[in-house]
Amino acid sequence: RELPEDLITDTIPREVLHACYTKVSPSAEVENPKLVTWSESVAELIDLDPKEFERSDFPLVFSGASPLVGVMPYAQCYGGHQFGMWAGQLGDGRALTLGEILNSRSERWELQLKGAGKTPYSRSEDGLAVLRSSIREFLCSEAMNSLGIPTTRALCLVTTGKYVTRDMFYDGNPKEEPGAIVCRVAQSFLRFGSFQIHASRGKEDLDIVKALADYTIRHHFPHIEKISKTESLSFNTGEEGSLIVDLTSNKYAAWAVEVAERTASLVARWQGVGFIHGVLDTDNTSVLGLTIDYGPYGFLDAFDPSYTPNTTDLPGRRYCFGNQPDICLWNIKQFTATLSAAQMINDKEANYAMERYGTKFMDDYQSIMTRKLGLPKYNKQLISKLLNNMAVDKVDYTNFFRLLSNIKADPSISKDKLLVPLKAALLDIGTERKEAWISWVQVYIEELVASGIPDDQRQAQMNSINPKFILRNYLCQSAIDAAEQGDYEEVRRLLKVMERPYDEQPGMEKYARLPPAWAYRPGVGMLS
Ligand code: AMP
Ligand code: MG
Ligand code: MG
Repeated sequence: RELPEDLITDTIPREVLHACYTKVSPSAEVENPKLVTWSESVAELIDLDPKEFERSDFPLVFSGASPLVGVMPYAQCYGGHQFGMWAGQLGDGRALTLGEILNSRSERWELQLKGAGKTPYSRSEDGLAVLRSSIREFLCSEAMNSLGIPTTRALCLVTTGKYVTRDMFYDGNPKEEPGAIVCRVAQSFLRFGSFQIHASRGKEDLDIVKALADYTIRHHFPHIEKISKTESLSFNTGEEGSLIVDLTSNKYAAWAVEVAERTASLVARWQGVGFIHGVLDTDNTSVLGLTIDYGPYGFLDAFDPSYTPNTTDLPGRRYCFGNQPDICLWNIKQFTATLSAAQMINDKEANYAMERYGTKFMDDYQSIMTRKLGLPKYNKQLISKLLNNMAVDKVDYTNFFRLLSNIKADPSISKDKLLVPLKAALLDIGTERKEAWISWVQVYIEELVASGIPDDQRQAQMNSINPKFILRNYLCQSAIDAAEQGDYEEVRRLLKVMERPYDEQPGMEKYARLPPAWAYRPGVGMLS
């Protein structure tokens, strides 16, 4: 239910009951806001003429200082489980939806400003964002999209010209940081927590869960909308005793399954490129299966399943690389529990969605790993031996797979030459570990020979799934360090490099290098 007009800029922190959103206008203080960078491909998505970026009022509009004509900004109400515990109402504490654009292809895109000031959901926080976290969100949104991974996008990044105080939890000292605002774009920013919050408020608000689900299905899952019957469920037991649920009888069950499968497919892709979200809470899990809310994310350098980029995730490592598939299943469980509470699906349907999550994840993950190796079919043993070797020797996940395509399907190569193509990724392995790698490469070559795929064809295919360039944390940090000194060139260069992660890009080799020693200093790559 909407607030009266005179309360539109009301930002008093409170529980907002019986509502999915609150009208709020941007209120971040700005002083001579400046456009730092923008994404041409996102401008294209929303039919925005690139000339618009040159307008003198562009930074004013996209910092929220000047209203965008025809919009009614609002902050969404959502809750979530944080670190496995129900945390109640959370956001949007610092994101405002400006509105939606229907482009010439009839696609609907929602525009949000992140860091534009307080909302009723800001709790004790300031509703602002700093340049550091805004650069991280901007660059990674676009890098993920270029990797082919579903994600919210970023249109532009403006500095506000004001400073924001942040407590640096790693040394306890407050720091003044430049304020900034990202305009992010997605078909929807709805999260699992957008549904959970209403179910958490008791029986009275269960109809809101249903209304929001109907809205979501109508706008974002229109193929499911056609499933209109909601009664007479039928169940069969399929092969191996697995449950088959007739998805044509209940659109909410069909929807739950699709949400589960999209999530599974997303996580499989994260595992494929070594992306770690860092805060996979249910408020940060998109109902469209997008990567959403870039905080303390990271990419693997050395392969390590227990790696978490989130320093607040230690020592438990709930959100570490190797846990992501399980955590997302846990999140799906909370999501289906919400639909169950609203009596939209029954237990069998909830279990079925979780089962389909597992199947979809395994299918997609195995297919991705098989393609990363350039093989025609999944070889469990070969992949697990490889990952085990990589973990033991702390081998760089990205560079290793990129180099792997240089191996030839030639069984006559002498033993002492077998590791030559991988040399750059295996520099640090000791002599006692060489045999393990040689025997792995020998089996790999046998598989390549058996596949009959020509070397050049396999290499091209492998290079289209094994990126050369990922947004390594230290690269992002270098761009942030320069930007904090007023030099934005590195942010723009990094964006260009990360827009073509699978291309060789001669002259840009330094962006594929391993992290230097300073990259491990405290505070590099933190939250908020
Ligand atoms: P996160 O861990 O990023 O998902 O953050 C949890 C919630 O805290 C989000 O829903 C945000 O809305 C809110 N939040 C984070 N930082 C701020 C801030 N500076 N001001 C207001 N709300 C914030
Ligand atoms: Mg969170
Ligand atoms: Mg969040």
